[in-house]
Amino acid sequence: MSQIQLDKGLLAVYHKTLFTTSASYDVLFKQDNSMNDENLGDYCQILSAKSSISGQDGGVATSLLLSGVQKGLFEVVIVVQRTEGYHAKAVATSNIFEIIQARGTKYLRVPILGLLNDLVAKGKRKIAIVGSPCQVQAARKIQQKMLTAYPDLQLAIVGLFCFEAFDHEKLKDALQKQIGRDLDKVEKTQIHKGKFIVTFEGKESYIKVHDLYAAQENGCSLCKDLTNKFADISVGSVGSPAGYSTVIVRSEIGQKLLDGVDLVKGEVNKDEIIKLALIKTCRAADTLAAIG
Ligand SMILES: Cc1cc2nc3c(=O)[nH]c(=O)nc-3n(C[C@H](O)[C@H](O)[C@H](O)COP(=O)(O)OP(=O)(O)OC[C@H]3O[C@@H](n4cnc5c(N)ncnc54)[C@H](O)[C@@H]3O)c2cc1C
Ligand code: SF4
Repeated sequence: MSQIQLDKGLLAVYHKTLFTTSASYDVLFKQDNSMNDENLGDYCQILSAKSSISGQDGGVATSLLLSGVQKGLFEVVIVVQRTEGYHAKAVATSNIFEIIQARGTKYLRVPILGLLNDLVAKGKRKIAIVGSPCQVQAARKIQQKMLTAYPDLQLAIVGLFCFEAFDHEKLKDALQKQIGRDLDKVEKTQIHKGKFIVTFEGKESYIKVHDLYAAQENGCSLCKDLTNKFADISVGSVGSPAGYSTVIVRSEIGQKLLDGVDLVKGEVNKDEIIKLALIKTCRAADTLAAIG
């Protein structure tokens, strides 16, 4: 199945239950002791933390991957690295330097599932991925389908929160026209409190996310999952102080990734996360209503 087919197919999946039966969902990753919240999903623990890695927020996503490699929880991980300018691609690696090099958010929708299929075809059975909710939902579908042929297949999923992603060319165009910045030259991008902030030569400038609507990827306005409900462990920025990551542990694999990682804890604000999750759900409902 090609990446494009999967992404298009996902649009149809958003408004249906992801798994055919709740039993298959439970088998894949649900914990007995998990709590359920409509907006946050199933989880066993929620915290705010920063690691010793300087990442997008608290560097927790990268620290979890390094922890997984060190504990032998997976043989290979798919990360997303910047290539030329702000372009990005998925890379399969077990090299800790490449994992560290991949830190930082690229606000783009990057195909990763073709690589997942390739790794399984090459005989890899313990694989980790990092991805946004749409990528994770598709990966779980693939995992579910593959379990019959490969019962020993194990996926460890670090899910990123996601409100929207952008088309590279449209985003570049908007930034150039509105604030005179070249996306391909920026050192860092960050969305914070409705602002798309770019760092160039150490200086920050911003554009309102609202003004980037036309650059948003197709399908994002129909997407309902902010917190990556089907990941083993989710990581985002909303709900935490600057420089910290919000972490939602959802499964035993997620807990194993987190165990022993050296973290400084912060205070998590669940209401802030729920508020943004509700805005995303309402946006999807409004978009659907407008389509008719
Ligand atoms: C498109 C997008 C939109 C987001 N929107 C929000 C939001 O609205 N609210 C919020 O709280 N958080 C959002 N996030 C998550 C947030 O930006 C951080 O990625 C998260 O807090 C983890 O930070 P960290 O410091 O722990 O990660 P780091 O340690 O810096 O690691 C980041 C990891 O993310 C991976 N990655 C980077 N870009 C992509 C990508 N495009 N696709 C797949 N993997 C990628 C890298 O491979 C790396 O492993 C978004 C992320 C993405 C990719
Ligand atoms: S908003 Fe949804 S569809 Fe868009 S990139 Fe994020 S997870 Fe994918």
